[in-house]
Amino acid sequence: MGSLKIQNIRKSFGHVDVLKGIDLEVKDGEFVIFVGPSGCGKSTLLRIIAGLEEATSGEILIDGKKVNNTPPAKRGIAMVFQTYALYPHLSVRDNMGLGLKQAGKPAEEIKERTKIASAMLSLDDYLERRPAELSGGQRQRVAIGRAIVREPQLFLFDEPLSNLDAALRVNTRLEIARLHRQLKATMIYVTHDQVEAMTLADKIVVMNKGRIEQVGSPMELYNSPQTLFVAGFIGSPQ
Ligand code: ADP
Ligand code: MG
Repeated sequence: MGSLKIQNIRKSFGHVDVLKGIDLEVKDGEFVIFVGPSGCGKSTLLRIIAGLEEATSGEILIDGKKVNNTPPAKRGIAMVFQTYALYPHLSVRDNMGLGLKQAGKPAEEIKERTKIASAMLSLDDYLERRPAELSGGQRQRVAIGRAIVREPQLFLFDEPLSNLDAALRVNTRLEIARLHRQLKATMIYVTHDQVEAMTLADKIVVMNKGRIEQVGSPMELYNSPQTLFVAGFIGSPQ
């Protein structure tokens, strides 16, 4: 479970057409990466999938079911942003478990899920710390942990590593790849970083000015870019 179908999604803010008809299918368990210049509509599309923004027209289907009118908390989706937005006064444990607590889950279950997620992310020894006592990479792992404890079928990542330094980016990227194998969940991931895109993706979606330019595996895009824009963006030798 965790397949996604995007059908002719359009979004305008006032007179500005930000998404101009997006069609895409994501299979259960796929790792799909969105790349494209700043302002091309990547975050808006993720927010529409998550239900944080309403499309002007078009449909979003999760596991074949139309979710346009389903509230974000009921879509089985977890979103990880570039800014971690942790609560400074709460411990790592409580930051990770807060969403479950608000959803009314029993304390024992929250404890168990937090334990599993923190083990996956090597945060076991940090559960009683506050965010200020963690490194940037650890804080971002807490934000990922907060998503994992909800056991979503579908993860949305919006440039999750762009605030980290180069070494931490590599580590956290490898960790996300491992999580993808382990959880077998569907992941949709926005990045500016070609290396991230080429190494993580089953499928790369290249966006430009509110449209999809090309969809393909990293090698397909590299070897046969269909437009100069894609060639330039992927760094193909032509
Ligand atoms: P990306 O994530 O690819 O950089 P965004 O989806 O954030 O692009 O933004 C796409 C365009 O939509 C930008 O021109 C941005 O200014 C505009 N935009 C995004 N959100 C809003 C909003 N709430 N109101 C008005 N314009 C917006
Ligand atoms: Mg963005």
